[in-house]
Amino acid sequence: MIPMPTDRATAPAGAGRYAPSPSGDLHLGNLRTALLAWLFARATGREFVLRVDDLDRVRPGAEQRQLADLAALGIDWDGPVLHQSERVAHYEAAVRRLTDAGLTYECYCTRKEIQQAAAAPHGPQGAYPGTCRDLTPADRERRRATGRPAAIRLRSTRTEFEITDRLHGRYRGPVDDFVLRRGDGVPAYNLAVVVDDAGQGVDQVVRGDDLLPSTPRQAYLATLLDLPVPEYAHVPLVLNTAGQRLAKRDGAVTLADRLACGDTVDGVLAGLAGSLGLTGHTAAALRAEFHPDRLPRDPWVLDPDSLVCAGAGP
Ligand code: GLU
Repeated sequence: MIPMPTDRATAPAGAGRYAPSPSGDLHLGNLRTALLAWLFARATGREFVLRVDDLDRVRPGAEQRQLADLAALGIDWDGPVLHQSERVAHYEAAVRRLTDAGLTYECYCTRKEIQQAAAAPHGPQGAYPGTCRDLTPADRERRRATGRPAAIRLRSTRTEFEITDRLHGRYRGPVDDFVLRRGDGVPAYNLAVVVDDAGQGVDQVVRGDDLLPSTPRQAYLATLLDLPVPEYAHVPLVLNTAGQRLAKRDGAVTLADRLACGDTVDGVLAGLAGSLGLTGHTAAALRAEFHPDRLPRDPWVLDPDSLVCAGAGP
């Protein structure tokens, strides 16, 4: 369990983190999650580190704007910002280690083949059906000869794994033979996140609850690699009034948009704080009043009309 703020003196010297994908500007939902990750870490005496998940979906300039927005809100971080694109040797070492332990196999399936096979009524929903798990050497040669590059999958010994989440309690979810390295050679997110969190000393993962279903896979992988499983807190997302995850098309939702609309940084921070039941207008004030147990458990629903620029004409 995450220590309470009052435990600060005895809190473990671990770290929390925020790990944006530099695919565009952060919107209010992303900023709120980043603020929460920072509040959880700082309120429990932890360091706070940043990691840029830049293995794909990189938009030039996005990282710089994301970091600038976080800093503008008063979210500070410790140490250098980690970039996944510079850590491929670490992911490869983890794949090698699992391979040496007999815990990987090559997979030649196309997306379509997986969808068709996964429609069969067995195994957890959406799980890889194991088509390539036990190919005979002759089958494998035939598949290799097609020239299609193989993905590397985990040879899982579990079908489920249980984690403990600060907000969701005990959560049991499926573990399948998930991809460790994609067919195009890019390390898979589920592998990179596990290697990096351990590498950065992260023992507290606070992120959007859309990632909760992936977490049993990640925690299980950590145990296979003899890495500590971090504490988790999967926080509610920000939704639009149609119940969908907030997106750029919902209106003026980035910090730059809000400022262009006449909002101030303090005003945006106060809005995020209000959605968390907090009243402070600076990051430091929020940190002083934040308590994980008082966090709203429901998504924050944002009405796009409230995001329309004041005075913006048609
Ligand atoms: N980069 C991922 C995202 O932006 C987050 C990864 C994580 O927090 O584990 O969705």
